[in-house]
Amino acid sequence: MRVVLIGAPGAGKGVYAQYFEEKYCIPHISTGDIFREEIAKGTELGLRVKQYVESGRLVPDEIVIEVVKKRLQQPDTEQGFILDGFPRTINQTRALDDIVAIDRAIYLNVSEEVAVKRLSGRRVCPLCGRVYNIYYEPKPRVDEKCDYDGAQLIHRPDDKPEVVRERYRVFHETFKPVIEYYRSSRRLIEVNADRPLREVLPVLEKVLIETGVLRVPLCRDVKIE
Ligand SMILES: [Zn+2]
Repeated sequence: MRVVLIGAPGAGKGVYAQYFEEKYCIPHISTGDIFREEIAKGTELGLRVKQYVESGRLVPDEIVIEVVKKRLQQPDTEQGFILDGFPRTINQTRALDDIVAIDRAIYLNVSEEVAVKRLSGRRVCPLCGRVYNIYYEPKPRVDEKCDYDGAQLIHRPDDKPEVVRERYRVFHETFKPVIEYYRSSRRLIEVNADRPLREVLPVLEKVLIETGVLRVPLCRDVKIE
């Protein structure tokens, strides 16, 4: 299963990736995670990307492509992988096709209203780090207070509605050409990510199996919450 996962903030990309990673032992490869790790370890690559990441600029195509190419040579990707955060430009998308045959791009299409509700409803406990949502489960039992320690929950600046709307707009501007590229090469699977995970995930899984994209044995049984 060689797939690319595309989705705006609030689409639930992380949860989808985690499901396939746990159930089928297919590695979830996030370029953002790789960069953070390399920076933390102080490697040569880490030093090269640090200046971009820290100033909020995009890491240049040639560096990202090199990183992904190297990662996809690791033995754990033999049965496939789920790429997250890459490709994000047409240049990267074409380069990826030269590195490996991508089976499908899964586009988790979430509406702006649902994305805003999911993210702007998030509340985090400053003491224990537990994450709640005032609109969805797990909701705090008492308004804006942590169930475990009673601390006043925090609304992160990144999760404020106006910030979420801006991130949503930037996502679409950035990924539109990439989505169209996979659509025109008939490799796009579009998922209605507004609907709850337990409804959408089994359908997506079935499509992947029926199209022969997902053909690895079960690793462990995973329940959808
Ligand atoms: Zn707490």
